[in-house]
Amino acid sequence: MLRLAVLGYPVGHSRSPAMHAAALAELGLADEWSYEALEVAPDALEARVREMPAEGFVGANVTVPHKSAALSLADELSETAREIGAANTLVFADGEVRAENTDAEGLLRALPSSPADKRALVLGAGGAARAVVWALLREGAEVEVWNRTELRSRNLSEELGGAAVTAPDPASYELIVNSTAVGLAGENPFAELPLSSDAFAPGQTVVDMVYGGEPTALLRAAEAAGAITVDGIEILVQQGALSLETWTGRPAPLETMRAAARG
Ligand code: NAP
Repeated sequence: MLRLAVLGYPVGHSRSPAMHAAALAELGLADEWSYEALEVAPDALEARVREMPAEGFVGANVTVPHKSAALSLADELSETAREIGAANTLVFADGEVRAENTDAEGLLRALPSSPADKRALVLGAGGAARAVVWALLREGAEVEVWNRTELRSRNLSEELGGAAVTAPDPASYELIVNSTAVGLAGENPFAELPLSSDAFAPGQTVVDMVYGGEPTALLRAAEAAGAITVDGIEILVQQGALSLETWTGRPAPLETMRAAARG
């Protein structure tokens, strides 16, 4: 059996095992490949990853809080993972651990149109925001970054590009991406983020990386205003599809993955 896993702490909420199991079944690979969730504490990550190849693992996804640690322990980094400073995908081959980041490309694939030349506001300065800022800048968007802790958005912009802002005017952006964790635990985004519930307009695209069982309050308000919305599940599906293609070399069955991730 060729084993795959998602490593997180905690990891019980992850939709990746259901999504990848459905994809492997659809590809006719369920008898040869498996995908499981492994809860690994931060101080145990490196040792656990080093054991995995001997146990039949050929790759893994890494999620919160391991994305930057995964980069440090890898023997080889893709240029994307190195530039973003975080990895979400590991490949075990030839006795080495290779680190890749599919979050950035996953976001781009989830967008309804190219962000080139668009004014974009990215909320957040953590690992997810770094991948978003990197991807949007690479595609030629004009990126501004807001974060609750201002020093982090300034540092992010100095390192990756874009401009840190403290009081953005939401109406002035064609693309708004929430890559903070706000909304994950049911927080009111309009109390925590520099947005009001009437901040959105038709012609805007609003992305919320946060995902749960139903549309977030942010996306509900954006949709009600006539904006195009992209939810965190679609980004999860797209980054997962890219990881699966990296491991198996087969095109990922997107519709099957979507249905499983939403189910
Ligand atoms: P992270 O590195 O821990 O960063 C968390 C970010 O959220 C920081 O910018 C933090 O601001 C901000 N934040 C937290 N609580 C806040 C609050 N009450 N008010 C304002 N800002 C707040 O986490 P991450 O890895 O970047 O992930 C961020 C979110 O994206 C998570 O919900 C994660 O599940 C989601 N995500 C989704 C996907 C997907 O595939 N859909 C992929 C990656 C991540 P400070 O710097 O001020 O603390």
